[in-house]
Amino acid sequence: MTLTRVVLLGPPGAGKGTQAKQIIDKLCLVHLSTGDILRDEVSRETELGMTAKGVMDRGELVPDRLIIDMIRGRIEEAAESGFLLDGFPRTTAQAEALSEFATIDVVLNITLPREEVIRRLTGRRVCRGCGKIYNLTFNLAEGETTCAACGGELYQRNDDEMEVIANRYDVYEKSTAPLIEFYEELGILRALDGSLGSERVFSEIIDILTA
Ligand code: ADP
Ligand code: ADP
Ligand code: ZN
Repeated sequence: MTLTRVVLLGPPGAGKGTQAKQIIDKLCLVHLSTGDILRDEVSRETELGMTAKGVMDRGELVPDRLIIDMIRGRIEEAAESGFLLDGFPRTTAQAEALSEFATIDVVLNITLPREEVIRRLTGRRVCRGCGKIYNLTFNLAEGETTCAACGGELYQRNDDEMEVIANRYDVYEKSTAPLIEFYEELGILRALDGSLGSERVFSEIIDILTA
């Protein structure tokens, strides 16, 4: 039996987005990334986007109420087909709200130490065309500025700047790390070592989801 209502947990830079793209292709789940949805709202200059932009650029969290209202309908809609939550929940209040409108099968907790988070995020580049995630150290040739998959332009996220990255990690420790215990107590937490190669992490995830 495949587990289809899945949460990806872990600090920024742990590899959630990288894994999510491969998992949804293999298991046909709906990818729900609150970060991606918010960045889309920002680029379309919607009311939510305007409110969220400053908060995101500083590496703080967008208020719980706004996030819950934004994601709730999408989760309910995807419940039948199965979903992969990436970047939500990020606070205890969000996890409690989630438990009222969805049943979660498993929470995959991808761990990564702070120094590695900082190293990875300063080198992260993202494709403007297809969203594919790259890294200067791991999979980009020196001077490469376009996406191998679609030819799109690679850019550096506003919040992938040293000072903001450090703040995001602190915010993670304070507000999101408590969810590890929250889900451990529910007996649905599974740990993965995010410092391993992405193919290894992926195969461990598939084993857990399809066991
Ligand atoms: P998150 O969504 O958790 O913030 P990403 O998937 O965007 O993390 O990955 C952060 C950065 O680390 C990206 O530059 C990505 O290419 C790189 N990365 C992801 N997984 C691995 C891995 N297992 N080993 C090395 N680098 C990785
Ligand atoms: P990363 O995994 O690299 O930290 P995300 O793309 O998940 O980045 O999130 C980027 C930013 O969007 C966060 O720093 C935060 O400002 C906002 N955000 C995303 N998801 C949430 C959430 N569930 N609650 C509050 N803010 C969020
Ligand atoms: Zn691309």
